[in-house]
Amino acid sequence: MLRTNTCGELRISDVGKKVKLNGWVQRVRDKGALVWIDLRDRYGITQIFGEEGVTDKELLNQMKELGREFVISVEGEVAERFSKNDKIPTGDIELKIEKLEVLNESKVPPFKIENETDGGEDLRMKYRYLDLRRDVVRSSLQIRHRMAKSVRDYLDHQEFIEVETPVLIKSTPEGARDFLVPSRMNPGEFYALPQSPQTFKQILMVAGFDRYFQLVKCFRDEDLRADRQPEFTQIDCEMSFVEREDILQTFEGLAKYLFKEVKGIEVEDFPRMEYADAMSLYGSDKPDIRFEMTFKDLNEVAKGKGFKVFDDSEAVLGICVKGCAEYTRKQLDEITNWVKRPQIGAKGLVYVKCNADGSYKSSVDKFFNQDDLKAWAEVSGAEANDLLLVLSGDLKKTRKALGELRLEMGSRLGLRDKNVFKPLWVVNFPLLEWDEESERFHAMHHPFTSPIPEDLKKLETEPGEVRANAYDMVINGVEIGGGSIRIHNRDVQSRMFDALGFTKEEAQAQFGFLLEAFEYGAPPHGGIAFGFDRLCSLFGGSDSIRDFIAFPKNTSGRDVMIDSPSPASLEQLKELGIKLFEEK
Ligand code: ASP
Repeated sequence: MLRTNTCGELRISDVGKKVKLNGWVQRVRDKGALVWIDLRDRYGITQIFGEEGVTDKELLNQMKELGREFVISVEGEVAERFSKNDKIPTGDIELKIEKLEVLNESKVPPFKIENETDGGEDLRMKYRYLDLRRDVVRSSLQIRHRMAKSVRDYLDHQEFIEVETPVLIKSTPEGARDFLVPSRMNPGEFYALPQSPQTFKQILMVAGFDRYFQLVKCFRDEDLRADRQPEFTQIDCEMSFVEREDILQTFEGLAKYLFKEVKGIEVEDFPRMEYADAMSLYGSDKPDIRFEMTFKDLNEVAKGKGFKVFDDSEAVLGICVKGCAEYTRKQLDEITNWVKRPQIGAKGLVYVKCNADGSYKSSVDKFFNQDDLKAWAEVSGAEANDLLLVLSGDLKKTRKALGELRLEMGSRLGLRDKNVFKPLWVVNFPLLEWDEESERFHAMHHPFTSPIPEDLKKLETEPGEVRANAYDMVINGVEIGGGSIRIHNRDVQSRMFDALGFTKEEAQAQFGFLLEAFEYGAPPHGGIAFGFDRLCSLFGGSDSIRDFIAFPKNTSGRDVMIDSPSPASLEQLKELGIKLFEEK
């Protein structure tokens, strides 16, 4: 070994020991007669010390010449520090240098390798290996490692086995575009990268594997958003001979285990919420239940008083913001402008201040008297000092906008503490969703999701009303996982393909293998998949999943370090039988 210890290891009890450390030079402080080096490795930082009269002159000069990020090896004796640093675990000691060897030099790094860095996102991504030297980034990946280990421990304990499924497959319908890979040996034909291992894990159930899981890369060619990556990792799971309740219990157990193992916290049993309730109370299928502020339906009390905006609206919905009746004009204008931004899309905002003296002041006093406003307050559960915020319009849009406003108010009032975790299950999603563009129904989850048995009879007559036996795990307003009980009957699966507008031939061409497998003794089964990157970022208290991926892509889907994607040579294309499309 080139070293006896790591840079995070030595303590006061080691004083007097002769040791050898290796690491990167974080910085050199040169006070002439006294020189300090902060030496860093994955485990921490240790201070190296040299002084005139004690340290060999040449060695002292050598110390002074070290540049940032040089890789060095030092030998010396552990000594108690004169002025201690209680911010780092090695802060009581330093190494009195006796020998120094430069193992490798370094160019001056393009940004500071410290927690507070001066490097912008692009620069840090280009030099990701330098970024990864920073404590904050490395500790995120350590959380990821710990999570993966705990996931495997828990599932192994529950008799799940990890099975690898192929990466070169054919389209799996998860609602995004596929990444295609040309096949040299089959010119003009393409593999698709898996959007998920969905069909394979169901086939594994037919094969009798009973409990499967996999930490697996999935690929979706979607427009990127801040928290999306074209390739991401799922904890993918499937079980046989189960009902929904078994799956919810098993994976609630997994989440609780992770909270305990990784964060040392006990979370309560997860409440269950119907999709329909999530939408009507929170305007979202992934409600943040760290705080209340649920929607109140004001249709009955607010319509028919001559205020045309409300009278012409499908929905008049409000939220009660506790203790905010004193908001100033300026604050209310700010919130009004906030909801009018195109991302939120509300036309305006109506407010009612419930004053301390029992009177009301609203932005629509012209149309509504004190009694009217009192009725609103009663319906909303608003008391003295509360502020009512009301939006109106088309039901779907109003719910969405008010849902956003609710989250914004929650954030402004500090009700969304990152260290508080409130998981829940959202259940009974609609099976199908009408798509305006293609003018047909799409599977809300995927086409293998089973309808709730009592709704099956409506599949042909009222497809939009059929509920799915599907569930999402939601934590703090983030969808962490989703799954369903599957269809395991060939006829029901065919009816589902019909409802989705597949012709028999299309269904056969795309999923014939699965339909056929269902004819060879498919057990009842169901499963779930978790977004692993997102789960890690939630545990790490960050909004960005990129921090938890060693080599992420940027928002244009590029890896700026290796500069990919990049053009293929004409030869390569020719070999693959691909002609580039030329516009006329
Ligand atoms: N394959 C699904 C997904 O990726 C999860 C599941 O149904 O198990 O969302």
